[in-house]
Amino acid sequence: MKPGFEAVIGLEVHVQLLTRSKMFCACRNEYGGDPNSHTCPVCLGLPGSLPVINGEAIRMAIAFGLAVHGEIREASPFYRKQYFYPDLPKGYQITQGPVAIVENGWLEIPDVRVGPDSVSGLGPDTEWGARGGRRASPASGRSPSSRRIGIERAHLEEDSGKSSHELSEAASHVDLNRAGVPLLEIVGGPDLRSPQEAYDYLKTMHHLVTYLGICDGNMEEGSLRCDANVSVRREGESAYGTRVEVKNLNSFRNVRLALEYEIERQIGLVERGEAFAQETRGWDADKGETRPQRSKEAAMDYRYFPEPDLPTLQVTPEEVEAVRSSMLELPESRKARFIEAYGLTDYEAGMLLQSRAFADYFEAVARGAGNGKQACNWMLGEVSRTLNERGGSIEALGLDPALLAELLRLVEARTINLNTAKEAVFPALLAGEGSAAQIVETKGLAQVSDRGPIEALVAEVLAAHPEQVAQLKGGNPKLRGFLVGQIMKQGKGKVNPQLVNEVLDESLARG
Ligand code: ADP
Ligand code: MG
Ligand code: ZN
Repeated sequence: MKPGFEAVIGLEVHVQLLTRSKMFCACRNEYGGDPNSHTCPVCLGLPGSLPVINGEAIRMAIAFGLAVHGEIREASPFYRKQYFYPDLPKGYQITQGPVAIVENGWLEIPDVRVGPDSVSGLGPDTEWGARGGRRASPASGRSPSSRRIGIERAHLEEDSGKSSHELSEAASHVDLNRAGVPLLEIVGGPDLRSPQEAYDYLKTMHHLVTYLGICDGNMEEGSLRCDANVSVRREGESAYGTRVEVKNLNSFRNVRLALEYEIERQIGLVERGEAFAQETRGWDADKGETRPQRSKEAAMDYRYFPEPDLPTLQVTPEEVEAVRSSMLELPESRKARFIEAYGLTDYEAGMLLQSRAFADYFEAVARGAGNGKQACNWMLGEVSRTLNERGGSIEALGLDPALLAELLRLVEARTINLNTAKEAVFPALLAGEGSAAQIVETKGLAQVSDRGPIEALVAEVLAAHPEQVAQLKGGNPKLRGFLVGQIMKQGKGKVNPQLVNEVLDESLARG
């Protein structure tokens, strides 16, 4: 950003909730399907039909509210927001009004101003899309490398249908399968100060809602959508500048690119002393620019009024407690526990939490193996490598964590060495060739830990390489590695490396 200027950014994130049915009717909430096949009189807006609130959507909103440390409002009525558009069959959207079900929460994001060394890494590209953001730190014992971004409110509403203008030259088409799908609109505070922070915030939000299992996070299908509000001001100013709302940001990358562009544009206007009005602009990803959509003067009058067909949404403290007690451990505290219980670094714990399934798998292996550090090394090593090669997520690994845990126990017990485990047993496990013990047995991979055969092997190798032995004794330590390598090779990788080293030392000392 240009020196002397500061950006102020607040994101509005729309999250499609993963309920079975729609927000106010029993139609299936499912992406795709034949156009207009998931519809009924309620979501088609036919006269005489009446909406009914979806209890699952309420519980998901509460879960989100608790996860962002928000207040859950006991009474939050629905309103009608009127506007005319072909994909809105009723002529209005049912949404919440001045009071939202969730208010005044916060989300912790990495503090990019502290520098890259103090923040931990996100998971690999397989589960996160493009790499770039970093995981937030535990809220308890809040680390100085993270920052709290306000969540002003999160309210429930219904999605609109979808218009397509590309199917024919002569007509536009409307698909109402999406009409009435439950949405949680999450309004973030104007607390972000750079495109990178906005990117990290969206990544963290994406991680949270998918972790909670309330959204599938598929941005290409529009399950998670984002509008960005941005203004600029001269450094040191306390009042906010005129804001622009940028729409159509359908990827993490586009959020960053659009904000970078828009900040530059606004700084240019301010520097030239050109006044500009609050407006809505659209991001054109092909051209790499934002373009005006509608100005504040042209802003709609939605004529909000309380929805007469629905009772005020009431949430009792008992209902909130029921959701709280059914909730799984949240990423923040789970990460802190991983560090504490398994002796992992902040970075390792962050990587393990790349998704709930990945973290669950890790814990199953750690429990089965009785060694969290070793389980972590395997998850971030062989397991991640395999997933990267295959381009799948942990759910698609097709390996029972108990089987992997058994392999780790064989290494721990020195039945096999780590090399054999990685190169011979693990691939065989993935190929479904049986349990680790069976594979070791049938392939004869058990490590040789008896002194007799190892002494014979060492003697054989030393005899075969007199020159190297002489050089090693003459003071060239590099040759030690060479000799050990030869011994391991002769032993077909199955000999106990510690014992090899011990016996080698003794033999060299002897003569
Ligand atoms: P609206 O009802 O027009 O959407 P809101 O008050 O709900 O307006 O604010 C929408 C978003 O705009 C919020 O995410 C908020 O953080 C952000 N915002 C408000 N003022 C500014 C500003 N001056 N610069 C950047 N973002 C802002
Ligand atoms: Mg808004
Ligand atoms: Zn319906």
